[in-house]
Amino acid sequence: MVLAELGGRISRALQQMSNATVIDEDVLKECLNEISRALFSADVQFKMVQNMQANIKKIVNLEELAAGHNKRRIIQEAVFNELCAMLDPGKPAFTPKKGKPNVIMFVGLQGSGKTTTCTKYAYHYQKKGWKPALVCADTFRAGAFDQLKQNATKAKIPFYGSYTETDPVKIAQEGVDTFKKENCDLIIVDTSGRHKQEAALFEEMRQVAEVTQPDLVIFVMDSSIGQAAFDQAQAFKQSAAVGAVIITKMDGHAKGGGALSAVAATKSPVIFIGTGEHMDEFEVFETKPFVSRLLGRGDWSGFVDKIHEVVPMDQQPELLQKLTEGNFTLRIMYEQFQNIQNMGPLSQVMSMIPGFSSELMPQGREKESQAKIKKFMTMMDSMTDKELDSTNPKLITETSRINRVARGSGRSIMEVKEMLEEFKRLAKIWSKMKGLKIPKKGDMSAM
Ligand code: GDP
Repeated sequence: MVLAELGGRISRALQQMSNATVIDEDVLKECLNEISRALFSADVQFKMVQNMQANIKKIVNLEELAAGHNKRRIIQEAVFNELCAMLDPGKPAFTPKKGKPNVIMFVGLQGSGKTTTCTKYAYHYQKKGWKPALVCADTFRAGAFDQLKQNATKAKIPFYGSYTETDPVKIAQEGVDTFKKENCDLIIVDTSGRHKQEAALFEEMRQVAEVTQPDLVIFVMDSSIGQAAFDQAQAFKQSAAVGAVIITKMDGHAKGGGALSAVAATKSPVIFIGTGEHMDEFEVFETKPFVSRLLGRGDWSGFVDKIHEVVPMDQQPELLQKLTEGNFTLRIMYEQFQNIQNMGPLSQVMSMIPGFSSELMPQGREKESQAKIKKFMTMMDSMTDKELDSTNPKLITETSRINRVARGSGRSIMEVKEMLEEFKRLAKIWSKMKGLKIPKKGDMSAM
């Protein structure tokens, strides 16, 4: 079951409960059973699901809740909090400290995405001004060194490895020593994986850890491994001092439950997720926004706070109304572009809608993006009011209209079509907010 499906099923269970005229023990039980079934079929470990049920029942004591309490909200909040708690081991992961050589060791099964993730991790920090380096202590898989070398070269990150040395412990030690001398502040050691958890793999890991003394051991796990997630993560935790987890391939048909199980088994937080094969398809993991997104609601906690923080009071109702109506027009797009251009307060709000401005304004390419936005706005200046206010895509994409806008703005037909494609993409994102009950400030329980 893919993540979105899991989220959808939980949301539907909560919705069904909300639709009941009276919320009694039976309604609550059915709602929790459905949530449990959804979690279980998404590969969350059976015991964890049972614990969650018990915890919610403890919090939501229907008999003790006096009349007037909003039971629906209390149940929804309890489910949200329990899902967050499943992903929160209670202590943060070690964060590398500047000004000293931090040694980070990566462990995981072969094929989990470990080598790819090492480079993504290094690249993430390099962009923030760190001086990372990569050590390939994987002598088990033929081609591992070449792969790391290729990735490292692409990202211009120094690397260390050997085609002839067969002792991974020796390579790890030499690599770490070399980069310490070169004052690298983030030394990443990629270790061997195997197809199976086996004694030889764990022994090798222990030895590499002994000589490199890592500040942090990161366990890399493929999100699609299913019910095996808990046992696999636990086996690694028992052999290495795993302090953080990275879940890969979240872009695929991932069963989301693996992430929950890996956290429980390692008692370590998920720090990043991999969302593709490319170097920058890598995201910092944050629990609450993740659970909010899982339940199909976007990161409303931060989003609403941001609206209250940056949007003038008199403009708040208008913006919220536009958002919750979900109807996107070219005029709204124009206004949002104006905001982004002026770096106005609303651009901060828009940047919190997943996919809204991140693709339009990718980091590092702000100048290009600004030019593109300006170009789009010139084309929109050649549009009629009817076109700007229309929510009917057919009207906007009529050939004669496209030709007229191209002529009027001195742009090519291709460029006008590109602008309309962008409009369609943003309209799709905007429409997801239709009918949403955006909570009032500080009222998270309505999420
Ligand atoms: P290792 O054996 O654990 O070192 O795994 P690799 O780094 O060689 O990755 C195995 C495969 O998974 C490669 O084809 C990677 O491109 C791919 N991969 C790694 N991370 C991701 C991810 O987040 N998403 C997708 N779609 N593919 C990934």
